[in-house]
Amino acid sequence: MLPDVQNLIELQKADREISRLKAEIAELPKRVAAIEQKLAGTKAGLEKAKAAIKGDEAARKKHDAAIVDLQQKISKYRDQSLDVKTNEQYKALLHEIQFAEQEIRLQEDKILELMVNAEAREKDVKKAEAELKAQTAEVEKEKVAARERTAEDEKQLTEWNAKRDAARAGVNADVLQQYDRVAKYRGTGLSEVRDQKCMTCQVMLRPQTDNEVRAGTHIVYCDSCQRILYHDPAHDKPVEPAAVKKHRRAHPKFEAGQAWYYSANHGGNGEVYIVFINSGHESSRRVYEIGSGRRVGDILTREGEYRLGFPEDLSDAIRLNGSWDEEEIDNWGDELPMVVLDTLQRDLNLARAESSSHHHAEKEAVPAEHPAAS
Ligand SMILES: [Zn+2]
Repeated sequence: MLPDVQNLIELQKADREISRLKAEIAELPKRVAAIEQKLAGTKAGLEKAKAAIKGDEAARKKHDAAIVDLQQKISKYRDQSLDVKTNEQYKALLHEIQFAEQEIRLQEDKILELMVNAEAREKDVKKAEAELKAQTAEVEKEKVAARERTAEDEKQLTEWNAKRDAARAGVNADVLQQYDRVAKYRGTGLSEVRDQKCMTCQVMLRPQTDNEVRAGTHIVYCDSCQRILYHDPAHDKPVEPAAVKKHRRAHPKFEAGQAWYYSANHGGNGEVYIVFINSGHESSRRVYEIGSGRRVGDILTREGEYRLGFPEDLSDAIRLNGSWDEEEIDNWGDELPMVVLDTLQRDLNLARAESSSHHHAEKEAVPAEHPAAS
């Protein structure tokens, strides 16, 4: 992998962590504020419950005073009744006394009601007080936790900022500019490629672009989203190595009449497929561009079996599986059919997965040249 890309991966990780930490730091005071608001609500509830008790006490005093007044009236009427001269006057006073007694009963009923209510009001106050106490303790706990979290976040933020600066310093200025530009508009400037797909915008890459990303020799951009692309072999589908293990990739036969190869850079033509065909004392060579499938140059024929005839083509090539009739190959003319390109590409991917899963210490020029083990 290119050092630029490696640093960009670090940079992206740092950018993500930094924005996560900043969001968390901004969120913490809001959480504390929400709890404090709840606390204020409970406090107000307690004040209201206490005020209701005071109101009841004042009402009770009023009723007590009214009863005292009424009792005084009654005793005044009784005194007057001793001096009355007529029956009419006596009846009138008696009526007043009865009315006052009725009033007293009404006042007493109200006092009784207040006394019954007082129990419920007392309960309300007790409940609100208990809630307030619990919430106050919780707020304090949350505040302490928020302070600690913030301090920890700030510490991590400082560390990530340092990592970010270090990563940025390790990236070519033009590449960094492109990363920043795309990151500004799209949130991220770097995207992993898996299964020939840009994992961020989900668009399939052309096989050649995919190969370029895998080769990792220069910076490759996603045609669709402009993000810088990278390939992490560790994230290759586990299916591939598993498939290699289960049904081992058939190794091309050493003594074959026809042999296909992949070359990463063939005589300045970039990535190509090469097919050699042995026929009698001669061998022929055809070269095709990997992306377009177009044939490059003429068909060459040389003396001897192809390994003797074209040794310079084999030094850096990967041997692939593939065999088609020479007549069919002639019929293809100047361009490999799509199905052939796909077959070769699949085998090339398998060959690469195989060689990376074997962790070859030394670079094997022709890993598939061993005679097929059967
Ligand atoms: Zn993309």
